[in-house]
Amino acid sequence: MAVVAWIGLGNMGGPMTANMVKAGQAVRGFDLSEDALAAAVANGVTPTSSIADAVQGADVVFTMLPKGDHVRNVYFGDGGILANAAKETLLIDSSTIDIESAQAVHDAAAAAGFRFVDAPVSGGMSGAAAATLTFMVGGEGGAVADACSYIEPMAANIIPTGGATTGQAAKICNNLMLFINLASTAEGAVLADRLGLDKQVFWDIASVSSGDSWALRTWYPLAGVVPTSAANRDFAPSFTAELANKDIGLAIAAARSTDTPLEIGEHVQQLFQRLIDQGEGGNDCSQIVSLVDGSLKT
Ligand code: NAD
Repeated sequence: MAVVAWIGLGNMGGPMTANMVKAGQAVRGFDLSEDALAAAVANGVTPTSSIADAVQGADVVFTMLPKGDHVRNVYFGDGGILANAAKETLLIDSSTIDIESAQAVHDAAAAAGFRFVDAPVSGGMSGAAAATLTFMVGGEGGAVADACSYIEPMAANIIPTGGATTGQAAKICNNLMLFINLASTAEGAVLADRLGLDKQVFWDIASVSSGDSWALRTWYPLAGVVPTSAANRDFAPSFTAELANKDIGLAIAAARSTDTPLEIGEHVQQLFQRLIDQGEGGNDCSQIVSLVDGSLKT
């Protein structure tokens, strides 16, 4: 049995740690949110009171945090992972963060004598719960191979991406496509409805036709069609508009640094920004449909 320290037990970290416990790992969890920690404890995670406490005696440390700043905060400083973990502990960041922050953590971890990989995930909350996530793993070859063995209970696909930060590069480009697909799905769904098509009939067609996408099959933004859709729950979040805006922002920043025009991506980011400006940023990103059907005025 491995000892796993886990920092960040939110929408993704919660179900991911539940699967690690089911696989027989001893999981020591830490989160600033008492509610998140309590939910993880109900799934068999041992609660800890600080990062230092969590990483004591761990074989591996996972972080699953919102943004690059959060990851830097939990890695750096006296109370952070690098100051408190044993050097032989393998460090894995599964958050989706900017490439500069990922590189900064790679550099600091290597300078302190640790092995670190960036290993962001795709598959959403439903994939986290079903242990069918795709992991994209960047770093030095031996560390990546060891990370894959720890990741296995949470994953359907584990794909090494190359050197440091390439996992984040893959994730950022994937999510750019995801959110463009979500926006196009919202437009198609509302237009089909207004043209008099039954919403289930249209979904049945699109899901086996050239309009298909993961967003259509998993996050279809009209209620009563796809069980995993947040539209069934008044857009209670599985992936917030704030995080979607962050992810497209990461793609736009990466595009600027590589002189790559992202005209569609930039437009979709403006849609998420409108949701946020109207106080809906904490709701699910699929509420983007409300800018198409007019239930939120633009
Ligand atoms: P979340 O906001 O639900 O969870 C993040 C957790 O981190 C929260 O519980 C928060 O309290 C905790 N946290 C923040 N700072 C902390 C600190 N200093 N110490 C301890 N805990 C701290 O977010 P999420 O949806 O679980 O997403 C986490 C990451 O995974 C993000 O980078 C996101 O982009 C990525 N991601 C999310 C999804 C999804 O569908 N939700 C899918 C793939 C990837």
